[in-house]
Amino acid sequence: MKTNITETFLQTPRGEVANKILRSCVHCGFCNATCPTYQLLGDELDGPRGRIYLIKQMLEGETPSRQTLLHLDRCLTCRNCESTCPSGVQYSQLLDIGRAVANEKVSRPVLQKMQHLLLRKLFLSRKLFSLLLKTGQALRPILPASLKSSIPEKQKTLDFQKTAHTSKVLLIPGCVQPLLKANIDIAARIVFDKFGIECIEPTSTRCCGSLSHHLNAEDEALAIIRNNIDHWLPLIEQYGIEAICMTASGCGVAIKEYEQLLAFDKRYADKARTISALYKDPAEIIRDAINADRQSLQQFKERNMSEKQQTISFHPPCTLQHGMRIKRMIEPILENCGFTLQPFKDSHLCCGSAGTYSITQKALSQQLLSNKLGNINKNEPDIIATANIGCQLHLQSGTSTPVKHWLELLL
Ligand code: SF4
Ligand code: SF4
Repeated sequence: MKTNITETFLQTPRGEVANKILRSCVHCGFCNATCPTYQLLGDELDGPRGRIYLIKQMLEGETPSRQTLLHLDRCLTCRNCESTCPSGVQYSQLLDIGRAVANEKVSRPVLQKMQHLLLRKLFLSRKLFSLLLKTGQALRPILPASLKSSIPEKQKTLDFQKTAHTSKVLLIPGCVQPLLKANIDIAARIVFDKFGIECIEPTSTRCCGSLSHHLNAEDEALAIIRNNIDHWLPLIEQYGIEAICMTASGCGVAIKEYEQLLAFDKRYADKARTISALYKDPAEIIRDAINADRQSLQQFKERNMSEKQQTISFHPPCTLQHGMRIKRMIEPILENCGFTLQPFKDSHLCCGSAGTYSITQKALSQQLLSNKLGNINKNEPDIIATANIGCQLHLQSGTSTPVKHWLELLL
């Protein structure tokens, strides 16, 4: 499409990127067909094409309003539209720019500002989050069902004795997952160990930066990312790390984007490129290991046969299938390990978790959850599996069917 971006903005790196992306869109509207918010609300401005127009108008000098912010806020950043777009429009990168500009120009309601600040403080402070979680878990038996379903039960942690291997990956623990579901990373360590891969864990890494990024605290996000890079690069050199990995695909896709977020930072652009290039999802690491050593897969086939007689529906997180474009990689691994998978309708659509979206856009999030579980539960699977802690907890909040991380199924 033709653009007429203001000269001052066009001269900036963000302006140049936005202009290029806008010009790649031919406004065909194919993307609307797979957009969850467009499907629910039926408003052009709550679909990707409409949001692209809103951003275009804003960058061309039109003053954005709170209504503009609302339409941009309602986007899940699920990137389903990117998977559908025939012109390769990099929608999420444009949305980041659009949201940043809208946030600079429109003042949010005070309550919303406070909510965003509280969420950042809560998730970025391990002490505070741990205290609240422990309190919630202690009170769980007396809580009403609606609250109880949002607080995961305390897990008994798995035993694992580390073995040294030549092949090493840097396993990043993330901010709240180790407190909520510590066994997911332990499962990764156990499974990788069986393939002859050792996990090195950085000692001081917390958040990947995506939380602040998605809550419009850009400077905070970039400071976290630079700090992570400074911490990880020496470890990569010291241990001869072959890949960086996280068991939450929502955080993984954020690391893949470090390169893009720091592209115009002279000191960090090359370092960020190195980090993003080294990132691999656990599925890619296991697929490569299976291809290199098929014998190892036999170990998983022979274990827990009783559990493998159960049926599984695998929910692919958007960050995995649309963000990292990893499609149908986990399903064959599970099938090759002896599980029976049950496909379900609309598996390409978001479950409504989307980071803090389930808190900031509760009504839409709940509608998407209900649609997703309705489709999954038609087949009455014994277990629902997924690859992201956010989706896992969100899905579990709406069903009594156990929802597990797929790596835990390999144990
Ligand atoms: S983003 Fe892609 S699919 Fe959507 S209107 Fe633009 S060109 Fe068409
Ligand atoms: S990212 Fe998802 S919610 Fe946002 S416009 Fe694209 S398809 Fe719609």
